[in-house]
Amino acid sequence: MTVSSARPGTATPLDLGALRSRIHGRVIGPNDDDYEAARTVMYGGIDRHPAAIVRVAGVDDIRVVIETAREHGLELAVRSGGHSAKGDSTTEGGIVLDLADMASIDIDPATKTAWVEAGASALAVTEAAARHNLAIGFGDTGSVGVGGITTGGGVGYLGRKHGLTIDNLLAAEIVTADGELRRADADTNPDLFWAIRGGGGNFGVVTRFQYRLVDLPGIVGGLLILPATAETVQRFMELSEAAPEELGTIANVMPCPPMPFVDEKWHGAVVIFGLMCWAGDAASGEETLQGFRDLARLGGLDAPIADMLQAGPYTQMYPPEPDDYHPLAVSLTGYLDKVDRATAETIMDRLEALEAPMRAVQLRTLGGAIARVPDDATAYAHRTSEIMVNVAAFYEGDHDKAEKQAWVEELMAAIHQSDDGAYVNFVGDEGEARVRAAYPGGTYERLAEIKRRYDPDNLFRLNQNIPPA
Ligand SMILES: Cc1cc2nc3c(=O)[nH]c(=O)nc-3n(C[C@H](O)[C@H](O)[C@H](O)COP(=O)(O)OP(=O)(O)OC[C@H]3O[C@@H](n4cnc5c(N)ncnc54)[C@H](O)[C@@H]3O)c2cc1C
Repeated sequence: MTVSSARPGTATPLDLGALRSRIHGRVIGPNDDDYEAARTVMYGGIDRHPAAIVRVAGVDDIRVVIETAREHGLELAVRSGGHSAKGDSTTEGGIVLDLADMASIDIDPATKTAWVEAGASALAVTEAAARHNLAIGFGDTGSVGVGGITTGGGVGYLGRKHGLTIDNLLAAEIVTADGELRRADADTNPDLFWAIRGGGGNFGVVTRFQYRLVDLPGIVGGLLILPATAETVQRFMELSEAAPEELGTIANVMPCPPMPFVDEKWHGAVVIFGLMCWAGDAASGEETLQGFRDLARLGGLDAPIADMLQAGPYTQMYPPEPDDYHPLAVSLTGYLDKVDRATAETIMDRLEALEAPMRAVQLRTLGGAIARVPDDATAYAHRTSEIMVNVAAFYEGDHDKAEKQAWVEELMAAIHQSDDGAYVNFVGDEGEARVRAAYPGGTYERLAEIKRRYDPDNLFRLNQNIPPA
């Protein structure tokens, strides 16, 4: 898919030499050797050609990029980790403001806080904090950039115990559309602070975040693969909901990948690919985790298909990722109230019915500390949603994309219950109604009003966009 580089009729050509003379970091253009690598984002199927990718070195560079995009009427993409499913961190013909070289991490063990530049990855921050037996919760994938995950909310293993990433955000610094560097915290620009905790990239370029860290000397966790039946899926979710808040789980109901430590007879069979994280005292977690292991018997086995649960640092929840992973995927996100037997049966039936090497229903139990924050305290307004569900399928190309898309849509419709919300960081290119679904209960209107104050011309529009009120 291509997107226009600017509002029609307004773009003027970009002089890369002139831009380079003003930038302390690096300006990568189409003739540079690393242009191909620099224009590649995480998801496959996003093939755009920016006029320039600017690896900014600091606030001055960010100001120059903003000014240049404005002057030339060019579309501006902001990139931290490059994981946007919608492809918002690249542009056809515009400028990419890439924060990858602004990735410093400054941990203060005495106050248990950290200043982290937006280009750092979730893994890098987790590793740095773990050296002091401290942690902050991001998501399930280490390569995700803190810039994108934090501004959207941040749903991960530590959520039930310690809240979303934004619930541990103390302050941020952000360059707004007028080129001003502003601080945002509870007392300074509180409207902006509210908006960037869930409102995504609509309000400017966050240069750095200050996080509160929690004590976490270690966890017990990892991968637990169980047989998937409607009964085991339902029971897995009941156990997750009833477990102490120290437990974070992700149940990926999907075909078992051909992992070397898994008996070949399971390769390709639909299983519960469970990701488990007990962030508490190891001994007291044993009983809770044993309950999940025992689900193997409910599925007709003596033991789990794979049991990799072990004590270790929290970093072990972020296993190594291949550099060249660029999947072609279609997906939809939503929330469920409960995975009852009928829902679990529908999930199993539909997963069995599709031919695709990778198709998955991902279930995440929420609640706990996430639900203790009022809906209107931040721009993430799904505090009482019980379970996050993501349905995804990989496709090979144009010939099977529509089929996979239809499967995802039909499955999501079949399991829909009372909750119409959507988590903004998992929404794709789905139109305005879905952006509104991400911001229920007056949140959208409040964000639009703040957008009017900080970005009246909608310069930052490559995102789940909220046009200025
Ligand atoms: C494999 C995978 C696993 C994931 N798992 C989880 C998960 O467990 N939990 C979860 O909550 N999310 C998860 N996500 C979603 C993820 O949080 C979003 O895709 C997020 O936007 C990615 O951030 P990024 O910086 O890597 O992406 P980018 O593509 O660089 O940025 C995405 C958007 O975020 C905004 N943005 C990025 N940086 C800044 C900044 N510095 N200032 C202002 N705006 C900015 C921009 O609008 C940008 O278009 C996952 C995504 C993937 C691909």
